[in-house]
Amino acid sequence: MKSQNINPSPAALATDLKLSLPSPLHEFQPNWNNPNHCQLYIKRDDLIHGIISGNKWRKLSHQLAHVVSQGYRGIVSFGGMHSNHLHALSYCCYKLGIPLTAIVRGHSSAPSTPTMDDMRQWNTQIELVDRLTYKMRSNHEYCRELLQKFPDHHLIPEGGSHELAIDGVSEIMDEIIIGLSHTPDYVICPVGSGGTLAGLVSSNTSTHCLGIAVLKGEGYLEEAVSTLLTKNSCNSEWLINHDYHFGGYGKRPNELQTFCDDSLSSLNLRIEPTYSGKLFYATRELLGQGYFKANSRIVLLHTGGLQGAR
Ligand SMILES: *Cc1c(COP(=O)(O)O)cnc(C)c1O
Repeated sequence: MKSQNINPSPAALATDLKLSLPSPLHEFQPNWNNPNHCQLYIKRDDLIHGIISGNKWRKLSHQLAHVVSQGYRGIVSFGGMHSNHLHALSYCCYKLGIPLTAIVRGHSSAPSTPTMDDMRQWNTQIELVDRLTYKMRSNHEYCRELLQKFPDHHLIPEGGSHELAIDGVSEIMDEIIIGLSHTPDYVICPVGSGGTLAGLVSSNTSTHCLGIAVLKGEGYLEEAVSTLLTKNSCNSEWLINHDYHFGGYGKRPNELQTFCDDSLSSLNLRIEPTYSGKLFYATRELLGQGYFKANSRIVLLHTGGLQGAR
């Protein structure tokens, strides 16, 4: 590891990696049905860095600082062949000189992806595993065995949603409150592994945190978020909406794909169908249905993720 990073704070690492923080927050005025006259804003975490986009940095910042300051020998983590989490982590590890092993769901005969190509270039050790092995990724015994194989390594769960991710994500809420000079009524984000929603909730404000499930995970996702929150006794109100996963993770029916394809001209914004597309689509629908309280201030968290859609 690089010697100048003997005891770095997350903020010092962000400077090393040339992240642009705080991320911009701006008003958003799409021509959507808005019967309750809500005011929309976007928190642009998609813009914090050209490569390390969005919520993945927020989840990794405190974990990377922990790894460097505690002198771990490396990191082991998990993901699919398009994983935004592994992509961001791989780049950070490359820049910070931390050895990374990625356990990736996939078969050696499958074609590579731009995500995997980048990770190889950033010196990540990729270990392909089959579906059944990958299923054990959060199994206690399996993780213990992995740590025997990779001693003194820090293990980061899929999506980066480790308990150490929470504090980094809650910094988004601090930035939003400063940016708005006010606590918003709602913050909305996509939910995949739950760390982002948990981090927003942990900020313990009067803001209602609404997650949009991007996969079929009723019950399971709520449990994932609750588990990450157990350390914080007092939290903001939160809820996960399960009506806009469009059939499951990575599913992109025409309606959703078209919504994303048109977003640059209609919303002046780039979104992709796996995460941000579902977030914006759901918000448009809920707004039209009068779901939000009258005159609310609503912040959409743009979590980035455009690399995965290449
Ligand atoms: C990983 C990811 C999410 C999901 O965040 P979780 O903390 O896993 O729920 C949302 N948006 C993008 C772009 C992501 O890459």
